[in-house]
Amino acid sequence: MIPLHASPTIMSKLSALPSVEKLAAALAPEVSLPRPLVNLFVRREIDRFRQLLLVDEEHSREDIEKATRQGLREFANSRLQPVINATGVLIHTNLGRSPLGPRAAGALQKIATGYSNLEFDLPSGARGKRAGYLETALACLLETQAATAVNNCAAALVLTLRTLVEDGKNEVIVSRSELVEIGGGFRIPDILETSGAKLVEVGATNKTHLHDYEKAITPQTALILKVHRSNFYIGGFIGEPEIPEIAKLAHDHGLPLVEDLGSGAMMNTDELAPIEHEPTPQECLRRGIDLVIFSGDKLLGGPQSGIIGGRADLVAEIKKEPFFRAVRCDKLILTTLQESIDQYLETKADPTQADVPVLTFLAKSTDDLRARAEALIKDLPTDNTAIAIEDTLARPGGGTMPRSEFPSIAIKLVPSNQSVPKLAKKLRLGTPAIVGYTTDDALFLDLRTIFPETDKEVTAALESAIT
Ligand SMILES: *Cc1c(COP(=O)(O)O)cnc(C)c1O
Repeated sequence: MIPLHASPTIMSKLSALPSVEKLAAALAPEVSLPRPLVNLFVRREIDRFRQLLLVDEEHSREDIEKATRQGLREFANSRLQPVINATGVLIHTNLGRSPLGPRAAGALQKIATGYSNLEFDLPSGARGKRAGYLETALACLLETQAATAVNNCAAALVLTLRTLVEDGKNEVIVSRSELVEIGGGFRIPDILETSGAKLVEVGATNKTHLHDYEKAITPQTALILKVHRSNFYIGGFIGEPEIPEIAKLAHDHGLPLVEDLGSGAMMNTDELAPIEHEPTPQECLRRGIDLVIFSGDKLLGGPQSGIIGGRADLVAEIKKEPFFRAVRCDKLILTTLQESIDQYLETKADPTQADVPVLTFLAKSTDDLRARAEALIKDLPTDNTAIAIEDTLARPGGGTMPRSEFPSIAIKLVPSNQSVPKLAKKLRLGTPAIVGYTTDDALFLDLRTIFPETDKEVTAALESAIT
């Protein structure tokens, strides 16, 4: 709206505003977006410039058109699309965590495009139990009594806490060294509060003793919670009781011991690559944890989900909590998770044979990566860019094993005709988008996280970006 009191100078400035219809018509062919979205974007940009002109900023029509074109292209780039991960970070939360293998993707395609027995019992023709098969398969894999899956690990934790705390018995005991932020600003104390639990912190940042837990137990205690330090580490003068000791203490007082494990590796990570041993859910349960909670899309390599496994009575209670319905998985998740879990069960002796790309990437030798890097760069022109193969370090990522950097191989590019950020941006804005990492003077593309099938696309993208 143009204010009634607008002065003649403001009126003349506002005449710089292009017409929404004309500008949208001119820009629409430059992006492959639905036309109503182009119109909306352009209208918002012109409204924004109108406000700026009214507060006396100077903008020519040319500037406005240029900024709108640029903004529209960036908006089009924000559409969810495939990305080649050349960061060397295996489970990159910003890049969608674990990719699914062909087997899970095939199952997804079949279930997504047809009807299924999601809640239908085929033998009786009556209504069936949702996720019944998956829950049994999960319990079998976890070597425990019962299991279920919900939307993600954070939801699984909130749900579990909500179920296990009640009025007058809502205290949850956690060691001070485990009050972590799990990413995206989510902190364990906030999750506890959301769940209706009252946090009781015990111990010091570096040390928690068994008697710290013991002293904190009152008639109001609902459970003891362990949170795996998955995205940071502490060292020096540190110490904490072993899980079996805490389990015994909890059980002597009739309390459940719950662990938020985060990653949920199904194999010995230290046997796949020179990295730390990530505790497995099976190990936690064997040591006396009553319920273990972990993500489906970290080291497990499945879809986004949160898995809860352990004591049958507790899992049954969790499934009865009304909030369970709010965070349940849909059929697309259930089918991909079912496929991931079945593969682990089938390849129990050797989980590296499971169809899980992150595990394949983790286990790749640097010789193999070096050979691919050599083939990938061998025909690239070097007039404007120095290209070399470098020994680098890859990381598991996704808030898992923060100490575990391990050898990898990267292509190092040092451009002489353009800046490093400019080259990096060109690759990010290409199709497919390629995301590497930069230092002051070079762009690195780590081979460990690049699917070999896309090597040729990487070569082609590099060729066009460096010339
Ligand atoms: C990653 C992580 C979570 C969150 O998992 P989401 O599946 O993203 O909800 C919770 N707890 C720990 C310890 C984690 O590492």
